[in-house]
Amino acid sequence: MDGTTHIDLYEVLSVERTASKDEIRKAYRKAALASHPDKVPEDERETAEIKFKAVQQAYDILYDEEKRDLYDSHGMAAFDGSGNPGMGAGPDLDDILSQMFGGMGGMGGMGGMGGMPGFDGPGGRPNKPRKSPNEETKYEVGLEDLYKGKTVKFASTKNVICGLCKGKGGKDKAVAKECSSCEGKGFKNVLTRLGPMLTQSTAPCTVCDGQGSFFSPKDKCKKCKGKKVTEEKKMLEIYIPRGAKEGDQVTLEGEADQVPDQEPGDIVFHLVEVEHPVFRRAGPDLTADLEITLAEALAGFSRVVVKHLDGRGIELKHPKRPGDVLSPGQVLKISGEGMPLKKSDARGDLYLVVDVKFPSEGWAPSPAVLEKLKEILPKPDPPIEADTVDEVDYDPNADIEDFGQGDPRGGSGWVDEDEGGETAQ
Ligand SMILES: [Zn+2]
Ligand SMILES: [Zn+2]
Repeated sequence: MDGTTHIDLYEVLSVERTASKDEIRKAYRKAALASHPDKVPEDERETAEIKFKAVQQAYDILYDEEKRDLYDSHGMAAFDGSGNPGMGAGPDLDDILSQMFGGMGGMGGMGGMGGMPGFDGPGGRPNKPRKSPNEETKYEVGLEDLYKGKTVKFASTKNVICGLCKGKGGKDKAVAKECSSCEGKGFKNVLTRLGPMLTQSTAPCTVCDGQGSFFSPKDKCKKCKGKKVTEEKKMLEIYIPRGAKEGDQVTLEGEADQVPDQEPGDIVFHLVEVEHPVFRRAGPDLTADLEITLAEALAGFSRVVVKHLDGRGIELKHPKRPGDVLSPGQVLKISGEGMPLKKSDARGDLYLVVDVKFPSEGWAPSPAVLEKLKEILPKPDPPIEADTVDEVDYDPNADIEDFGQGDPRGGSGWVDEDEGGETAQ
């Protein structure tokens, strides 16, 4: 039974962690066929049956998006309710769900009290091994990494249960002395003044560090000096799946600081999407500006217009039909060039917004060329008829923000119905 507890479902199916549903289905068919008990010689049947069951289980979990998410973040512990009794105190599904939906951190505070028999501190849950607090961390990721997926390795220093005293804090036969300051309770009642009122609350005892007891200096464990834990450096690895997005969580199960007599909490990374210089993302879709010149807008082009998040050049040919022009603000949609969707072959779309760069001041065509352009380009509408005509001067570099500023009531003369209150007199 032991072998199944550390089973890697991706290895069972021989697929990458990034495999799509389609790839998983194909891998499952292949593996199921190869290990089908009816298809192997008699003497290999037993092994094949075990393998076949493992393949079946791997497929059941990895093909179901919800189950796969749970597996990715919590491992097989998430499915422990059904099988493996020998596995020990893995967190059950309720725990995982309450962690996922019950806010961060929870009642993990009051650390250090868990070791006291019979004492269930404020917020403690009876009958269950308490977990040490989760470590919540932000992790900034660029759009490129969210597009391709990324494995991040890092060194982490954490508290582990002292190997010498096994978390006791004292030497082998030493007995801890009850703390006289808190009478062994580990906490004290404190009075706090809140304005005119005195309120009573409990705080961990500072003499015994909330333990209720402590070892005399000569009895303290030599390695941890009575602290019960020691620091350990460990290489950790997280995998950010392609298609992950802002707010997604990546959990390293049981990798938070260890506290004696408690289940170690998790390190939880909250992904933060870093702004990208070219692309903006909304769900699975991407958008970027398509900068073209006036000549390109009118006469066309065939070139790489943007470098995608995986480094590919995206080439466009314009026009699609002779004579078509591109206008400023026009939107070109490129299907399937958005962000990948998690665990799927599907992708969002890429929306390119046309930005026509008109000639700047340095452009000095000859009058003959301009005449030629007028001749070539579409003609204006018929002139506007008016009885009197004034020729006026103008400022060519005005700001639309100034529009309405001359109004004594400030800003626009219109009162928006939505703003309610007084309507126009
Ligand atoms: Zn004390
Ligand atoms: Zn120790």
